[in-house]
Amino acid sequence: MNLILMGAPGAGKGTQSAKISEKYNIPAVSTGDMLRSAVKAGTELGLSAKGYMDSGKLVPDDVVVGIIKEYLSTEACKNGFILDGFPRTIPQAEALEAMGVKIDVVLSIEVPDEKIIARMSGRRVCTCGASYHVEYIKPQVDGVCDKCGSKLYIRDDDCAETVANRLKTYHAQTEPLKDFYAERGILVTVEGQEEVSDTTALVLETLDKAQA
Ligand code: AMP
Repeated sequence: MNLILMGAPGAGKGTQSAKISEKYNIPAVSTGDMLRSAVKAGTELGLSAKGYMDSGKLVPDDVVVGIIKEYLSTEACKNGFILDGFPRTIPQAEALEAMGVKIDVVLSIEVPDEKIIARMSGRRVCTCGASYHVEYIKPQVDGVCDKCGSKLYIRDDDCAETVANRLKTYHAQTEPLKDFYAERGILVTVEGQEEVSDTTALVLETLDKAQA
C-alpha cells in the first residue's frame, strides 16, 4: 500500500503512522523528521530549512521534493510506504504524480484547531522520531523515550506563536490537497478521538476498508 497521511500539525500523524507501519509492515517517512535531523546535524539542508521551520512556514517545494524523490527510489519502499507530512502543497502533489508514483490511499486525520493548540503545548518528542504527550501518551519513565532511552524534548516549533502560524499555513496551503485527492477518488477521513488507541482503531479499520 502506498499511503499519504494528512492532517494538521499535531493531529497525530506521526503516532498513527507508526501504528500503520507496524500493522502493514511498510516503512513510514516523515519529511519533518528528516528536516529536523538535518537541522540537528547542521548540514546545508538543515541550515536552509531551520528559519522556515522555526517560524511555522513551509520549506520550499523543490527542497522537500528532492528529499522524497531520493527516499522513494530506495529498496525499502518497493512494497509500499507511508508519507507523513508530504505532500503539503499542490505543487508537491503534482511533483509526486510527475515522478510516476501511484498513491492508493490518502488518509486525513481531522482535529479541530482548539484541540490541536491544547495538544501541542504538551507534546514531547525524541530524536528517534517517537512522540509523547504529558497527559495523553506518557512514557514509562517521565521525560525518557520508551524506545531508545534518550531524553525527551519540546520541539522548537511547538511554541504558541509558531503553532498558530503552522495552523494558518496548514489551512491555506495543505488543506486544498483534500479536494485534489478527493477528485482522484482516493481520499478517506478519520475524526481524531480523545484516546489515541480509539483513533488508531478507526484508522486501521478505515484503511482495511479502503484496501478491500
Ligand atoms: P512536521 O514535523 O511534519 O510538522 O514538520 C515540521 C516542519 O517541517 C513544518 O512546519 C515545515 O516547516 C517543514 N516541513 C515538513 N514537511 C514539509 C513539506 N512536505 N513541505 C514543506 N515543509 C515541510
